Amino acid sequence: MKYSEYSTVVIGSGAAGLYAALKIAQQINLPEGLLLITKSTLGESNSRYAQGGIVGVVHQNPADKVSLHVEDTLKAGAGLSKKETTEYISAVSDEVLNDLINNGVDFDRDENGNLTFTLEAAHSMKRILHSGGDATGKGITDALVRAVRNNNNIHVMENSMAVELLISSDKVCKGAIIYNEMTGEHEIVYTSALILATGGVGQVYKYTTNPNGATGDGIALAYEAGAVIQDMEFIQFHPTALALSPDSKNRFLISEAVRGEGAKLINKNGEEFMSRYSDKRELAPRDIVTRAIYSQMNIDHTPNVFLNASIIEQSKLLKRFPTISSRCKENGIDITQKPIPVAPAAHYTMGGIKAGVDGRTSIRGLYAIGETASTGLHGANRLASNSLLECVVCAYELADYLSFANLEIPKMIDSGIKKMIDVYSRTVKGKEYDYNALKTRLKDIMWNNVGIIRTEKSLQIAKKAVEILKKDFKRQRKCLNKGEYEYRNMLSVASLIIEGAIERKESRGAHCRSDYKQTDDVAKHSELCKIS
Ligand SMILES: Cc1cc2nc3c(=O)[nH]c(=O)nc-3n(C[C@H](O)[C@H](O)[C@H](O)COP(=O)(O)OP(=O)(O)OC[C@H]3O[C@@H](n4cnc5c(N)ncnc54)[C@H](O)[C@@H]3O)c2cc1C
Repeated sequence: MKYSEYSTVVIGSGAAGLYAALKIAQQINLPEGLLLITKSTLGESNSRYAQGGIVGVVHQNPADKVSLHVEDTLKAGAGLSKKETTEYISAVSDEVLNDLINNGVDFDRDENGNLTFTLEAAHSMKRILHSGGDATGKGITDALVRAVRNNNNIHVMENSMAVELLISSDKVCKGAIIYNEMTGEHEIVYTSALILATGGVGQVYKYTTNPNGATGDGIALAYEAGAVIQDMEFIQFHPTALALSPDSKNRFLISEAVRGEGAKLINKNGEEFMSRYSDKRELAPRDIVTRAIYSQMNIDHTPNVFLNASIIEQSKLLKRFPTISSRCKENGIDITQKPIPVAPAAHYTMGGIKAGVDGRTSIRGLYAIGETASTGLHGANRLASNSLLECVVCAYELADYLSFANLEIPKMIDSGIKKMIDVYSRTVKGKEYDYNALKTRLKDIMWNNVGIIRTEKSLQIAKKAVEILKKDFKRQRKCLNKGEYEYRNMLSVASLIIEGAIERKESRGAHCRSDYKQTDDVAKHSELCKIS
């Protein structure tokens, strides 16, 4: 089998992976360069579709303070956010956001050239930076893709998917098996620092704001390799995704910032209803708004509610939300005149590979950053626009950590690893699975049983159904194509979500159980690990 050797390898090219690759290449002298592997084209990711913005407690906004941002984050996190992690990330945000600006990211500014800040739900003040109005993710990833392409020390491998981590018998990560979608071949990459920046798991659910690639690959691979996985039961359902029809499954996001600018939620009769659910109304934390919409849909027997943005001054609405207004227009909705049909959809994975702010995981040589990691910042419920911040701060801190680490190409590849590799030289028996149909089946199970409201009964139904799907899918390691690998990973992360949700016999943040409505006095993280 073909192989290559690099001291540092980054997997994934969203905000976390691109920025980590860039900072490492800028800071560390790597004679053979750094390898950046991504399963689609460079920059294709959840990050690219982020709209509302990125939190920055920056010196350009002197009214804001780290302590205020920390207070808002901890409140939204429902007792499970780690205070020290939150304080650290918030405090470093000024340095990191200004470094992003120096690396070519253009945040929106007023006519005097000053950065403009917006408000989002559950933030106590305007502190969200944005780019291109409501195209912040595109603004950040485009700039980072440009910088990565211009850096001769970064080698990019596109349409290539990490499918297994190589762990030596002394439990050190030594690299990964990569599947090249174009050639259909597998190859080996050896490294002493493998960085997973592979994003979240939204695609495990029928309705999601996440693009097709969000299949939880990194979490599944790390779990199989024996890493500790944390808090997987906490899946954030965004309250307002564009709900054109029950058949529209990958749903376009209607950013929280639209409510931040004054839009109101209304029911089928045009009546506002949020005051019945929270005194913060439209600006309550996401989990509360999501459950309010879900209840209202059940009361009214409707597949959606509506978001009335037409009450926002027209020129402001169009200038601030060009992407949202044009996407709605393509679908026959003029948002200056008509309310937008919206419903909740799976959006963000609070849990993931347990990692520190510098990306270190429970396995030596394996690092995880961005949505695939669980640092404890988001707790049980992520505060809007904290995720892009976590991506870039953790990438920055990881580069700093690695600049003091002993980065060399691993020399000794032990017999355990040789055995792992052997599997990939053998031919897979049987014909290709209809992975699209299988994915649809899994997504239905998860949406219907492990969604916004959960019960022991629904979770046990899901557990059984996923076990059957696993039994029917005969590939455990080598698969025939990318779709099969993704399905295998989706099965694995679905089980982790279900296990976490069964174990957590309370309701907290995004995890709501109608049979355990109480929130326990002591907040505990959940951990799952294959190898104890
Ligand atoms: C529609 C939408 C709007 C959002 N808006 C905001 C917002 O305004 N503010 C905010 O803070 N957050 C927002 N979020 C959340 C935020 O965008 C994500 O949490 C964040 O961008 C995740 O970045 P990441 O780099 O960790 O992962 P991603 O951006 O998802 O990148 C993952 C990368 O890994 C690659 N990959 C995955 N598996 C493999 C594999 N096996 N092998 C190789 N490559 C692989 C993917 O192709 C991709 O390039 C939004 C999310 C969505 C979906």
